[in-house]
Amino acid sequence: MQVFENRVKIEVIKIELRCAELLTISANAKINLTLDILGKREDGYHDVELVLQSIALADTLELAKIDSGIKFEMNTDEVVGAEILPTDDSNLAYQAARVVQEYCKLKEGVFIRLTKKIPVAAGLAGGSTDAAAVIRGMNRLFNLRLTTEEMCNLGAKIGSDVPFCVVGGTCLASGRGEVLTRLADLPSLPIVLIKPRGAIPTAWAYKTYDNDRSPEHPDTAAICEAINLSDTEAVCELIFNVMERVAVKKYPVIMQCKNQMLEAGAVAAMMSGSGPSVFGIAKNRDDAVKIADTFKNSGVQVFVTETVGRIEN
Ligand code: ATP
Repeated sequence: MQVFENRVKIEVIKIELRCAELLTISANAKINLTLDILGKREDGYHDVELVLQSIALADTLELAKIDSGIKFEMNTDEVVGAEILPTDDSNLAYQAARVVQEYCKLKEGVFIRLTKKIPVAAGLAGGSTDAAAVIRGMNRLFNLRLTTEEMCNLGAKIGSDVPFCVVGGTCLASGRGEVLTRLADLPSLPIVLIKPRGAIPTAWAYKTYDNDRSPEHPDTAAICEAINLSDTEAVCELIFNVMERVAVKKYPVIMQCKNQMLEAGAVAAMMSGSGPSVFGIAKNRDDAVKIADTFKNSGVQVFVTETVGRIEN
């Protein structure tokens, strides 16, 4: 009897979805052009200065209206690290739907299907961008007329990187990462992205950094100026991540990947966020493909992608 009831429920959802408009939305990953930690705050977070950049590598979210509640499905065929992804209400995509429903006092429900492509716990804001895409998507689907500022504020309730993922492009993020200053969109830069085996939990990276701080820091003002002048050569010289040093001590593979990219012709290479992903900036797409080819059969995940501009909400 229970089995029959469950089957009926599944059929009902399928019929609802067939009739409903399905909205598809991209959730772009980010890389850090800089990452600086200014100090630890009383609330336990860190004051940071980050220059964040969207890239074309993206997860896909499909959303549809349903009668009530939140129905969440995930397709993880294309992603390594699926075993640490929550499939329940702790998934950041699910949490974002709940935050929007509560804020807008929505009576209707939402169906969410997430197709993951962005490596998990890799310093690429995979979870944050899914949350941002759900907020942007629900705004459109339900015609909620939320401003970008309101969507960023809702995103900040979920995580510090979510507001950036709402606006995308190139931004300076300060505070705990949620205070954004838009920078000019850079011309599209070819990017090789390497995801070595393993995941680095962000909390571990910050804790380790607190006991082993970097003597060197990025020149954030200079890189922001270079971005606003579209001076990509200067941008490549100024990229810097204070977290790289501590991450490399535990995961020497990060430095190996970085060196290999530079030897293969990358103009610049660096760890993204709290790692372990490493990105290289190539002169052009052909070079990016050649750099990527040197990583074939080396047990790491390789993506050839590019930087992208701000998101139209
Ligand atoms: P950041 O760069 O913002 O610090 P990250 O890219 O290093 O984040 P995520 O891929 O966002 O890391 O994963 C961080 C944690 O969030 C993981 O432990 C993961 O299980 C959890 N998580 C929850 N929801 C998601 C989601 N939709 N996608 C990825 N991770 C999620």
